[in-house]
Amino acid sequence: MLNVENKVIAITGASSGIGEACAKLLAQNGAKVVLGARRTEKLEKIVKNICSSGGIAEFKAVDVTDRQDMKAFIHFAKEKFARIDVIFNNAGVMPLSLMSALKVDEWDKMINVNINGVLNGIAAGLPIMEAQGGGQFINTASIAAHWVGPTSAVYSATKYAVWAISDGLRQESKNIRVTIISPGVVETELGSDISDQASKGFLQELRKTALTPDAIARAVLYAVAQPEDVDVNEIIVRPTASAF
Ligand code: NDP
Repeated sequence: MLNVENKVIAITGASSGIGEACAKLLAQNGAKVVLGARRTEKLEKIVKNICSSGGIAEFKAVDVTDRQDMKAFIHFAKEKFARIDVIFNNAGVMPLSLMSALKVDEWDKMINVNINGVLNGIAAGLPIMEAQGGGQFINTASIAAHWVGPTSAVYSATKYAVWAISDGLRQESKNIRVTIISPGVVETELGSDISDQASKGFLQELRKTALTPDAIARAVLYAVAQPEDVDVNEIIVRPTASAF
């Protein structure tokens, strides 16, 4: 039996890519999913799609960089379904560039979304899970949490940070499971905000062997589905043909 049915799962970055695919697969397996992101028109469409296939889903606009907004999102999920079993901190951005390009606003954006967004999710959900006596955080890191190369210095730094925060939280938690999902290259909207031309070309090259988001959704489903005394700490999923 999968340990998924009726679980209340709040997902950030659910308006596209990996978050959308996870919301759909988890709902198909009986979870009650609460989708968050800024583009509500996309969220509304995805939720309609899930509900018309017999799933249970709600959505709410959230900017993960805003601590109060994130708190409101998590509390919305709890009020709708009376508990929170899983918080999937998945929202992320990746405007790659060389350090020498000094795209300092893009550095700040990555730090705010990729690191502070995860911290805001933990701050919003940890007191609820502690009061419940259990729960699970799933945080999206990346193979960039294990690797750094030209143009990925700041992005990789944010994902190394997600890895460290997640493993620290795991060590401190007796009842709360913490899972790091580290995808390799996946075909999504990620990188659409790259303003540096050389980095755009680099990403196009990598995407030649990209996975589709459902590959990551199956890994997330596996981590959620384990019994409560089994904490899948990290799953790295690369395309078979990936060279790094
Ligand atoms: P997408 O660009 O398709 O999805 C990113 C999601 O993050 C969107 O739903 C976007 O929604 C949301 N988001 C961005 N900024 C904010 C914000 N401030 N507040 C709330 N939501 C926000 O890319 P992916 O699905 O690929 O990305 C998901 C995660 O996977 C990211 O953390 C990414 O770093 C990671 N990852 C992706 C890989 C890949 O190759 N695709 C590889 C390794 C890791 P909206 O704009 O509506 O707010």
